[in-house]
Amino acid sequence: MVSARYVVKKDKWNDVNLEVYYHEDHNYNINIMMDAMKMSLDYYTANFSPYQFRQMRIMEFPRYSQFAQSFANTVPFSEGIGFIMKIEDDDPNVLFFVTAHEFAYQWWGHQVSEANVKGNAMISEAVAQYSSYMVIKHNFSQEVLKDFLKYDLLQKA
Ligand SMILES: [Zn+2]
Repeated sequence: MVSARYVVKKDKWNDVNLEVYYHEDHNYNINIMMDAMKMSLDYYTANFSPYQFRQMRIMEFPRYSQFAQSFANTVPFSEGIGFIMKIEDDDPNVLFFVTAHEFAYQWWGHQVSEANVKGNAMISEAVAQYSSYMVIKHNFSQEVLKDFLKYDLLQKA
């Protein structure tokens, strides 16, 4: 459950309502999240299948944990990896990438699911990762894509 006195940023992509629920003072990166949702919808609906819902919501939660997780048309998103992250121009834009990655689960996991066997999450994880790389590839330069691949190589699990 996610609950707070939120401010809501609203936008639209075709007939899909896009909403970001955030703490009033944490408005720095809201537009990046909106752009990531729109570019993801462009790529995923063109290359995979139609989006199955009429809305997509991102909700900020405190830095008790640093993750985002995709539920059906809803993504709780830690302030620590998004809302209060300082993004410099030459940084890999992790916030954009995480948003596109989480949104990809609306297809991988929420539309196409794996067999209920050990290790199954690796498939949706890998395909979501691929999907978000494709959003980067089709909207940014090759250099940006290379920076992301390098960034991910250096991450520890
Ligand atoms: Zn993931």
